[in-house]
Amino acid sequence: MEFAGKRIAVFGLAKSGLATVELLARKGAEVVACDAKPLDQLQGVAEFLREHGARFALQGREAMDGVEMAVLSPGVRPDQEIFDEARHRGVEVTGDVELACRFLRGPVMGITGSNGKTTVTALCGHLLNECGIPVQVGGNIGNQAVASMIETSRDEQWNVLELSSFQTEMFRNTRVHIGLALNVTPDHLDRHHTIEEYAAAKLNMFAGQRPGDHAVLNAENEITRSWAHRVPGRVHWFNAGGREDDGCWLDGSNLMAGDEAWMPVSEVGLRGRHNLENVLAAGCGCALAGAPLDGMRAAVASFPGVEHRIEFVRTLNGVDYFNDSKATNVDATIKALESFGHGLWVILGGKDKDSDYRPLRPLLASRARAALLIGAAAAKIESQIAGAVRIEQCGDLQAAVALARAQASTGDTVLLAPACASFDQFSSYEHRGRVFKDQVRELEG
Ligand code: ADP
Repeated sequence: MEFAGKRIAVFGLAKSGLATVELLARKGAEVVACDAKPLDQLQGVAEFLREHGARFALQGREAMDGVEMAVLSPGVRPDQEIFDEARHRGVEVTGDVELACRFLRGPVMGITGSNGKTTVTALCGHLLNECGIPVQVGGNIGNQAVASMIETSRDEQWNVLELSSFQTEMFRNTRVHIGLALNVTPDHLDRHHTIEEYAAAKLNMFAGQRPGDHAVLNAENEITRSWAHRVPGRVHWFNAGGREDDGCWLDGSNLMAGDEAWMPVSEVGLRGRHNLENVLAAGCGCALAGAPLDGMRAAVASFPGVEHRIEFVRTLNGVDYFNDSKATNVDATIKALESFGHGLWVILGGKDKDSDYRPLRPLLASRARAALLIGAAAAKIESQIAGAVRIEQCGDLQAAVALARAQASTGDTVLLAPACASFDQFSSYEHRGRVFKDQVRELEG
């Protein structure tokens, strides 16, 4: 499609939406930018739009008037009436990543899953980089919208993209040369309604694959295992629970790549079995992109992990403090609990996402001294875990940290792994994690 002179609406004016406005303005399009918030609540946006010659519309209908295309940010629901009507009129409704990928040079490695995306994306970037394979990393990770990777993309350089279900559900033609599907477990059911719909949105990452492309699937996850015959690319497996001839797997104390020993588990710096799964997935994907096993061995060992993912904060009076603020769903919290022994003081709660917290009961019962509940979901969580573990209603993070500080003893671990979103009391999970770390660092010995 030629963009010059075409009227195009961009919905959602956060990072990726603004990068889309910039991209389309550069292509000569007449951009109408729309957000549910008025301009005075969107810091710096009015000026940005002025600089790029884009018009603002507060109402979706006004924005859609006379447009030939609508580009949606991941935060905007595609199932709204105005978009259905537009599709009927022949207007193309697409996602910001799908649009940006049309202009991206070089092959794409896409990473999706309910949990582990950021860790695996950062790890793949690190592995390729350390092995001397040109790479840039972006997508749902950090501040790097795919649209702002276009200028720096090159034919011989990999684009490693973290892709959320909100992004992949809009995929039609995006070609993901190597796609990694880490796991599908319940999350975002407030938006995707059913697990089937959510899984379909993730499977859609592979929609634009061609024969000769690759799919790296988790053999242990029921949903990703069932995709073996549903992806167009060639299937490879990663498996932390059993042997794979074509893929990476765990053989007791060694990571394996097919028949070859890759590296001992003891050299992996990250904590928890789930992180071994992440390393296996990344190793399989990067080997397909040409990274040699010995180079990846050194690179895995030097990978420092990602902030807010089971991040060590400090030891005080023999008690370790860990920040896993990114555990925003129940499965991530289960993985965090599994990564530690006994003596846990677990801080849980925040904004509920229609989650079922009962699966936490056995691990809380066997490993936790107490669940310290905070935020809006505290009452619901209490009702679902009552009887499994001692419960303390703390209200906020500060009170939870103070209680843990007062009652934990040598050898115990205080773990923020909330199983909820952060937006009831914080602006983001990063904000929540930083506040936790500041409070922990301020504790006196
Ligand atoms: P995502 O980008 O998919 O949210 P992250 O790497 O940011 O994934 O990790 C999110 C949370 O999930 C963290 O609490 C982390 O410890 C946990 N986690 C990481 N990898 C996995 C995995 N493979 N399975 C389950 N949980 C994981």
